[in-house]
Amino acid sequence: MRAVVFEEFGREAHVRDLPDPSPSAGGVVVRVGATGLCRSDWHGWMGHDPDIVLPHVPGHELAGVVEAVGSGVRNWRPGDRVTVPFVCACGRCAACASGAQQVCERQTQPGFTHWGSFAEYVALEEADANLVAVPDGLSFGTAAGLGCRFATAFRAVAGQGRVAPGEWVAVHGCGGVGLSAVMIAVASGARVVAVDVSPHALELARAFGAAMCVDASAYPAGADEAVRELTGGGAHLSLDALGSPVTCAASVRSLRRQGRHVQVGLLPPAAGDPVVPMARVIGLELEILGSHGMAAHDYPPMMDMVRAGTLRPDLLVTSSITLDAAPAALAAMGGAPGAGVTIIEPARRT
Ligand SMILES: [Zn+2]
Ligand SMILES: [Zn+2]
Repeated sequence: MRAVVFEEFGREAHVRDLPDPSPSAGGVVVRVGATGLCRSDWHGWMGHDPDIVLPHVPGHELAGVVEAVGSGVRNWRPGDRVTVPFVCACGRCAACASGAQQVCERQTQPGFTHWGSFAEYVALEEADANLVAVPDGLSFGTAAGLGCRFATAFRAVAGQGRVAPGEWVAVHGCGGVGLSAVMIAVASGARVVAVDVSPHALELARAFGAAMCVDASAYPAGADEAVRELTGGGAHLSLDALGSPVTCAASVRSLRRQGRHVQVGLLPPAAGDPVVPMARVIGLELEILGSHGMAAHDYPPMMDMVRAGTLRPDLLVTSSITLDAAPAALAAMGGAPGAGVTIIEPARRT
């Protein structure tokens, strides 16, 4: 198969011919229809993820067609259109038994714990616990994002964040996951304040229904005061969708009394741990929550909203590229976060 592979962290990746994967007993091999380019892929390439063993094929948000199934798989057949959460659960540990597959004790993650989906084929473990059917009307390009940014945002806003109609929701960082969060919060009846340094990202947030936008470049120490002003005392729910010490602290300080902060953006160790204003957490009885992907069995309510057109993940995809263009696009993810989402289509030639 053709795949994007890198032999050294931070050095140019290349498209090469590699052996086709074969499925484990509980796993499947999927022919990749589309795979999203995510900032986590860039962190992996830079060497920020201790799970990655070289040489490595990145890619963790994907959709495609089941090509081969392992002997122990009961629910899936070749030809099925599928996507998968980026956290693939084992299906058997205590966390999985309690329904919390997104924090599985023995999870695998394509593109991190093993070779990922910047390739014509990808192997996925424990298919019966992890695969999600993609309806015929949903393109692979749109479905790919459901594995990472969109499902992650859905659980952060609707699950962990418990958003309610009429609430103020602040979203710090309007990249792929942040814009998804804006769309999901608006569809849930909340009023959204979008915060970002990029005018284009804020433009998109407004197009997705954000009631207010804050240009964070005017507030290098965090845009919390602007959020508190615009929301008449603070947001009920605030997300750090970027993942930085500044946006994390600003998100917490954006909250009104008894508000909920959800940390969604990954915090790379290189940036250091954020300083969370814990005195404020006590004094205002704030909740600090984490959100880590979403289990396959929690997808149906989100899929229903996508099918009904209440949620439009298709609008987040702004460009689609070939596998050959992927190494340069991966390297470019280290620059200023662009607005919108790029997907790679491995079968595409030009
Ligand atoms: Zn991702
Ligand atoms: Zn498990």
